[in-house]
Amino acid sequence: MESVGVLMPVPMSPYLEQELERRFNLLKLWTAPEKAEFLKAHSGAIRAVIGNAGNGADVGLIEALPELEIIASFSVGIDKVDLDMCREKGIRVTNTPDVLTDDVADLAIGLALAVLRRLCEADGYVRSGGWKNGDYKLTTKFTGKTVGIIGLGRIGKAVAKRAEAFSCPIAYYSRTEKPDLQYKYYPSVVELASNCDILVVVCPLTQETRHIINREVIDALGPMGILINIGRGPHVDESELVSALLEGRLGGAGLDVYENEPDVPGQLFQLENVVLLPHVGSDTVETDTAMADLVIGNLEAHFLNKPLLTPVV
Ligand code: NAP
Repeated sequence: MESVGVLMPVPMSPYLEQELERRFNLLKLWTAPEKAEFLKAHSGAIRAVIGNAGNGADVGLIEALPELEIIASFSVGIDKVDLDMCREKGIRVTNTPDVLTDDVADLAIGLALAVLRRLCEADGYVRSGGWKNGDYKLTTKFTGKTVGIIGLGRIGKAVAKRAEAFSCPIAYYSRTEKPDLQYKYYPSVVELASNCDILVVVCPLTQETRHIINREVIDALGPMGILINIGRGPHVDESELVSALLEGRLGGAGLDVYENEPDVPGQLFQLENVVLLPHVGSDTVETDTAMADLVIGNLEAHFLNKPLLTPVV
């Protein structure tokens, strides 16, 4: 398989890069001074593209690669891949489900605790010497709060399981009710937001879920409510979120993802009821390795004419 051209558009995991280089002809687009020229020069050789949460394969890239057979995404979310075009052209698409579920769910709980217990602020209080002048203020309890989940899939269920260990009642909104689960189902996001304390967004980004968190939902969550976004940035109408936080119409937010990454609205930087992470949901050494192995497993399966391990298309 050493002659198979595999395009990596942006730097990702060094481990993934190293393992791809050992097996394939890895072509690193970001190292080319002229990207269009580079693609043109290698278009006859590139049979696979590696996507991730920030960079997939749009119409332009797919059209520039006539020999493309497979897009293997180093992510579970495949919102940056033009799936319709892949279906049309018979291009296979794979992702990395399950192996990252625990990390992302852990982080959702971490964000909820960090926002309610002001962990980052309190850490700053110690580091800046503030404690010498007096005790830190009271914060808000997490145990027992109602957790609402938008998208009760692999990660959503893992968040629910963890929150249950904190005695949190669980409610959810998905397109379909899950009768096998004991959690309270609400048929709309507004109803869910009105009936929970902490709202966790973890559905895939699609046309239907873009801005699923709008002003009405934010107002339903209310001044004591906390929004946790570990899905994708465009799930949230960010300007509505910022104004609700500045005006005190929302209790707080824990965000791992943003509408225009890596740009984050500067108004959020001064708010102590907001915790901001740089899209690190699955970024642990262990999960990075497992995701990379899955990407490689899918590519090897494809080029050996075996069934794909985790096909999307
Ligand atoms: P999953 O197992 O496919 O679960 C997604 C759930 O969302 C499904 O149960 C689905 O249930 C629900 N859903 C789909 N469309 C919906 C809609 N229009 N409205 C409401 N619910 C909808 O996926 P997963 O593995 O849990 O991953 C979920 C998402 O998390 C990914 O797509 C990705 O964008 C994000 N993610 C983020 C990070 C990070 O670093 N922050 C890391 C990993 C994943 P129904 O079919 O019943 O609607």
